[in-house]
Amino acid sequence: MNEILKEVLKYIPDKSKICDSGFEGANIVLYTEDKEFFLGSNGLIKEIVDNIKKRVEIRMSPSKTLDQEETEKEIEKIAPKEAGKPHVIFDPQRSIVIIEAEKPGLIIGKAGELLKEIKKRTSWSPLVKRTPIIRSTIIEKIRQVLYENNDYRKKFLNKVGRRIYDGWVREKKNEWIKASFLGGARQVGRSCILLQTQESRILLDCGIDIASEKEPFPFLDAPEFNLNELDAIIVTHSHLDHCGLVPYLYKLGYKGPVYMTLPTRDISSLLALDYISVAQKEGNKTLYTSKDVKEMVKHCIPLGYEEVTDITPDVRLTFYNAGHTLGSAMCHLHIGNGLHNLLYTGDMNYELSNLLAPASTKFPRLETAIIESTYGGKDDIPPPREECEQELMRIVNETINKKGKVLLPVLGVGRSQEIMLILEKAMRNKLIPEVPIYIHGMVWDVTAIHTTYPDFFNNNMKKQIFHHDQNPFLSNIFKRVGSKKEMEEVINGGPCVILATSGMMVAGPSVEYFKEFASNNRNSLVLTCYQGPGTLGRRLENQEKEIRINNTETISVKMDVYAIKGFSGHSSRTQLMNFVKRLNPKPKKIIIMHGESSKCLDLASSIHKLARIETNAPKNLEAIRIR
Ligand SMILES: [Zn+2]
Repeated sequence: MNEILKEVLKYIPDKSKICDSGFEGANIVLYTEDKEFFLGSNGLIKEIVDNIKKRVEIRMSPSKTLDQEETEKEIEKIAPKEAGKPHVIFDPQRSIVIIEAEKPGLIIGKAGELLKEIKKRTSWSPLVKRTPIIRSTIIEKIRQVLYENNDYRKKFLNKVGRRIYDGWVREKKNEWIKASFLGGARQVGRSCILLQTQESRILLDCGIDIASEKEPFPFLDAPEFNLNELDAIIVTHSHLDHCGLVPYLYKLGYKGPVYMTLPTRDISSLLALDYISVAQKEGNKTLYTSKDVKEMVKHCIPLGYEEVTDITPDVRLTFYNAGHTLGSAMCHLHIGNGLHNLLYTGDMNYELSNLLAPASTKFPRLETAIIESTYGGKDDIPPPREECEQELMRIVNETINKKGKVLLPVLGVGRSQEIMLILEKAMRNKLIPEVPIYIHGMVWDVTAIHTTYPDFFNNNMKKQIFHHDQNPFLSNIFKRVGSKKEMEEVINGGPCVILATSGMMVAGPSVEYFKEFASNNRNSLVLTCYQGPGTLGRRLENQEKEIRINNTETISVKMDVYAIKGFSGHSSRTQLMNFVKRLNPKPKKIIIMHGESSKCLDLASSIHKLARIETNAPKNLEAIRIR
């Protein structure tokens, strides 16, 4: 038997009838046939967790749980009426009963008392999940994939645990840590870092540069990268330039875990499926199919913020809020039992937005930080958020008064929801006229996912939703546009505001709307996110007026084109510098990536000068020895 299990079992009294044990990732699960022990072991578990610093859970042996039909009846009896009829699903091999409800808090009860009651009456271990208030077919599909693969998941999670606890497989020689930049260095797009420690091979993000036709993918052919040796993938957030190529790794045969937050899992799956369907519509071949997205979901181990988890024998992962998109995370890696502590920020926003809290700056330990620099250039000082909000109001007012339409190309996730909140508030306060706000397809689906995970919102939003029962995403000013016919109605209809992807106008509905609206000077286009070099969005941002699309048609742009920089989900130059200043503890080395070359270099030299920290701005295919 495995050492760690032996150690855990030392704490367990003989009469507790443990009949089985196993891992679920880094968590240890023991199955008992003794109901008293199952119900009364909380104190003992706490003692074990305090002593060996691993999460341990006791469940009833599957052979001793109550019949499923009876259990469902008991749960219905216990659940309060206001919680709505709960949807009950069983994971019999793990003795888990999943209860989906619109108000999970009511099922859990004060201090979890109703859950205790469910355990007592049924011997199942209840797990409560929130039903999205706006229906989300992607979440339904993802949950379905997981439920259908319960058996596989149990084996897979046990295998991950064995890799973590069964000890080293590589020679313990020198203590070194190395990061190879396979993509996203001195560029925005295709982020991908291979982290090698003595024992582990970990990929931090694996994205696609959707703005580039020539070099869209990271350098997976670099000699140091070997898919068969990969222990884990960590995904910071759901934008395609960070997660877009992960399903492809599964297609190539990777069978290991991918760590991300729950919102990132759901939104990245949605975006990957959308990426496939947009490519197919344009007649392009995609690298992977929905089958591979499913594989990613099957192998996903979701983690919450500040949940400390071993992922290999010598690496411990903790996610921290990054403030960039719903569920976006900075990853903190505690390597070699204290040998070194590395922070990789992914994309981050060090600013309180309407939706999210600012990125965290406090860590237990920190020696090296890898940070983004999208707006790290000297001149990347956008006007304050309030000014930007006012400018948006002004554009909306002027355009609507002219009986025109406002088109906002947005990334499906991130600023689109931020802008929805700004518009909803303005309309509620009568600062802009009441016109429909159309939310096109994917943006709507991502918003639905937002209603599933309100725990990831900032405190103001949580208060508004939980204490005042006021969820701005449910406002009836937002209208969903799904079908071709609905889109035509919007195009031929009256004044309105439209949010549609893609944000850089590479393809998708934002381009289709643009083609319809461009020639009319009553309409307005408002760009709010980063525009990659060469994209249609960047050309419009540069005020080009004659646009050739696909070498087939030329569009004369008569509509007003605005770029509002302050809504970005990325930190401005000032915020980046403040973030570095406030990092606690102060790191010894900062590596800068995810920015155009000049911005990476500029930020590197400024941080070096002002904060007296060693900095580095590697290029793609370069590697840095971190320790
Ligand atoms: Zn991003």
